[in-house]
Amino acid sequence: MTTKINNGIIADLHTHCSDSYGLNWNLPGLKRRSYSKTKIPEELVLQCAYVTMGEEADGTLVGLINFDDHRGQGILEGIKRLEGGIVPEGGRLEVTDDLKYALRVRLRSGFYPEKNLAYIIGQEVPTNKGHILVVGAEGDIQSRELSNTLKEARDLGGLVFVDHFGAKLGLFARAVYSAFGGNPRISLSEGDIYLNTQDGKGDLIHGVEVWNGNYGLELFEAALKTAKQHGLLELFVSDAHRVGDVLKSYVRFRELDFTSLANLRKSILAGLGEKRAGTSVISAMKNGIFEGKRHGIATCLGLALVRVGFVKEKEIMTK
Ligand SMILES: [Zn+2]
Repeated sequence: MTTKINNGIIADLHTHCSDSYGLNWNLPGLKRRSYSKTKIPEELVLQCAYVTMGEEADGTLVGLINFDDHRGQGILEGIKRLEGGIVPEGGRLEVTDDLKYALRVRLRSGFYPEKNLAYIIGQEVPTNKGHILVVGAEGDIQSRELSNTLKEARDLGGLVFVDHFGAKLGLFARAVYSAFGGNPRISLSEGDIYLNTQDGKGDLIHGVEVWNGNYGLELFEAALKTAKQHGLLELFVSDAHRVGDVLKSYVRFRELDFTSLANLRKSILAGLGEKRAGTSVISAMKNGIFEGKRHGIATCLGLALVRVGFVKEKEIMTK
């Protein structure tokens, strides 16, 4: 069914809900505990209900973005597990639509008013030319070479955004990345965007993340300029690595179509097109003051622990 509004659906399409190799979950991960069994699914449902209550929206859509893992699937499994179960304050969760890479649930009664909450899986792919964000693809993207990654994303139907455009790692992070064999290029260049939007391959990139909650104003103007220059859609996201930052930044859709994953993607594109015409509402907040630094340190530490073999890469179960 299509969800029409009165007050719209607010969507934060780029959230991770934890660090890639954050010790808070990866130590449990080493004990073979999945994301689905962490506190994240329950905390996320409550965060979405809490935000929509304050914003008077009819529901939320959150992009659960994988990196080199399947945390999105794990979190979705965890949310499904809450179905019919008691969430704090006596609320009950009911799974209403279970698309392959998206989930729509409804929170009934309890302290929080009845709300539609929806989640869509995506992937942040660290390509050789920098990261790109792929939302709602019908499967995992394997390639890490930009032009192949983009083709794979297109073949799997994913919506492609240039994320944190203009972001560069600091000196310390670059040193750690070089020492442990990570790719320090985290954002595409102007030239890469030009190449994939201007010479007849324009459908390979749909939009630019003009607002990323970890960087805020630092990247905003240049990213907005680039989006406009290439006629690309503009996305506002939190890029949250903690549940408490999810939906601090968002775009508001008038309506979204949940009849299939393909229709959901189509309605996201249509809604972002409307936003460009100025008909929609956005929120652009910065994540916690030290959040960018905290996440940077956690990522460097995680990378080092993976390389020395203390933390196992990809050992993340979904069930
Ligand atoms: Zn991210």
